[in-house]
Amino acid sequence: MDVRRSLPAVDTLLAHPTLQQAQQRHGGRLVRQAIRLTLESERSRLAGSSELAEHQPAALSLDTLTARVIERLEQLALPNSRSVFNLTGTVIHTNLGRSPLAESAIEAMVQAARHPMALEYDLENGGRGDRDRLVEPLLCELTGAEAATVVNNNAGAVLLALSALASGREAVISRGELIEIGGAFRMPDIMVAAGCRLHEVGATNRTHAKDFQAAMGDSTGLIVKAHTSNYAITGFTKSVPERELASIAHAHGVPFMVDLGSGALADFSALGLPHEEQPREAIAAGADVVTFSGDKLLGGPQAGIIVGRRELIDTIKRHPLKRVLRLDKLTLAALEATLRLYRDSDAPQRDIPTLAMLTRTDVDIAATGERLRSSAQALLDDIDVSLAPCVSQLGSGSLPIDRLPSYALVWRPLNGDRRARERCLKRIETAFRQLPRPVIGRLNEGALYLDLRCLYRPEDVEAFASQFSILKQRYESHHDLHQEGPP
Ligand SMILES: *Cc1c(COP(=O)(O)O)cnc(C)c1O
Repeated sequence: MDVRRSLPAVDTLLAHPTLQQAQQRHGGRLVRQAIRLTLESERSRLAGSSELAEHQPAALSLDTLTARVIERLEQLALPNSRSVFNLTGTVIHTNLGRSPLAESAIEAMVQAARHPMALEYDLENGGRGDRDRLVEPLLCELTGAEAATVVNNNAGAVLLALSALASGREAVISRGELIEIGGAFRMPDIMVAAGCRLHEVGATNRTHAKDFQAAMGDSTGLIVKAHTSNYAITGFTKSVPERELASIAHAHGVPFMVDLGSGALADFSALGLPHEEQPREAIAAGADVVTFSGDKLLGGPQAGIIVGRRELIDTIKRHPLKRVLRLDKLTLAALEATLRLYRDSDAPQRDIPTLAMLTRTDVDIAATGERLRSSAQALLDDIDVSLAPCVSQLGSGSLPIDRLPSYALVWRPLNGDRRARERCLKRIETAFRQLPRPVIGRLNEGALYLDLRCLYRPEDVEAFASQFSILKQRYESHHDLHQEGPP
C-alpha cells in the first residue's frame, strides 16, 4: 500500500489539541496553511523515496506531524523584516540596512507614526508649509550652506540635482570618478537618466585643471566631482582640488556640484578615525551644490541630502522629480532628531550608534570577546572558538583601505579532512544564520569570524549569548541529518 494514503486529513490535524491551541494564537487561516504545507512536503518526501522499493519510509505519527506543523507555523509567523546581528565587520552594511538609529530618532519616528504632525503646515500662520522646513535650518547650520532640501536617498539626490541643473547640457567629470556604487548606481548611467551628456576628462589616474579648462564650452551645464567612495586609486595620481574646480566652473558661469556620498557631519580625524570630507568643507571650498546620504557616516535614516546656494536649491525644489522622490514623515522625523544630536559636540559619538561603533576601541571589543569566549568554547565538541584580532571596515562610502583594529570570535572546525571541515564550517555558519535573531558573520580561511565591534550594547551581548543553546541544538540537528548519509 502507498504510505501516502496513511497521511491524516487536514481536519484530523486541525482537531489535535495542540493545533486547537495554536489557532487561538495564530488564527485558523494560518494554521490551515501550515497544515497544508506540512502535508505537501510530507507527501513529496514519501513519494521521492518510495521509488527505492526496499526501504519505504514510515509515515510520521500524528504527534510528530503536529510538531512539524507547529515548526512551520512559527516560520510563517516570523516577520520578514526581523533584526539580525551584524558581525560581518562592515559597520555600515548596505545589505543589513546600514545605520541603526539613535534612540531619539527612534522616539521621533514613533511619535510621527502615532500622531498627526505639522508636516506641511505652518503652525505660526496657520497656512500651508514646506516639509523641508523640518530639517533645512539644521542642515544649513551644520554645513554652512544657504539652503537645503532632502529626498529619498543620495542616488535620488544626484539624479534630481543633475536633472534640475544640467538637463540637455554637458556634465563635466574626471574619468577617475566615473564610479559604480553597489546596487546598480553608476555615475554615467545616472547622468544619462538625468538627460545630461557626459563629458569625461583626464585619464583614470590623473586629471589636471587644464583638462577641465579645455572641456568648458557653450553647452557645459556643470562640473561634477564624485567622492570615490568604494575604491582608491593610488600611486601616480592627480586630481584637481575642489577650490580650483569651483573657480573654473564659476569663470564659465556654471555650478560646481560635489557628490560626497557619505557626508560625515562630525570631524572624523578628531574622533581618531580616517579623515572623511565634510559637506561643510566642500561648501567652504566653493561647491554650489553638495549631495550626501543620510544613512551612511551621518548615522541617520535613508535619505538624500542636497545643500548649497539658495537659488540652485530653489530650482531643484521646483523640479517634478523632487515631488517623486520626497521623504515621508517618519524619515523626516528621524532625520531631524539625528541632525539635532550633531549640535552638541559630545553627543554624536555617544548617541549615534554608527559613530559609537566606529569609535569603539579594540580594547573594549576584546573585553566583550573575553566575556563570551568561555561559554562559546564549551558549546560544541568539534569546533574550536578563539578570540583573535581582525580589522573592521567602515562600509558604504568610505575607502576600503581604511581599516579599524577589532576582535573576532573565531569558530574553527577541528576534525576530519579538509572537506569534512568545510562541511562543518558551512553547518555552523547556517546554524548562526537560522537563529531566531540571525547572526551574520564572515567566512575567512576555514573559519567563521564574528567581528564583535557592532555588539556594543550590554543588552545585545546578552541577547547574542542567550541564543547559544538554540545554536547548539540547530547545529547538532544539522549534524544528525548529515550522519544519515547521502540525501
Ligand atoms: C553611496 C553613494 C551614493 C548613493 O547613495 P544612496 O544613499 O545609497 O542612494 C552616491 N554617490 C556616492 C559617492 C556614494 O558613496
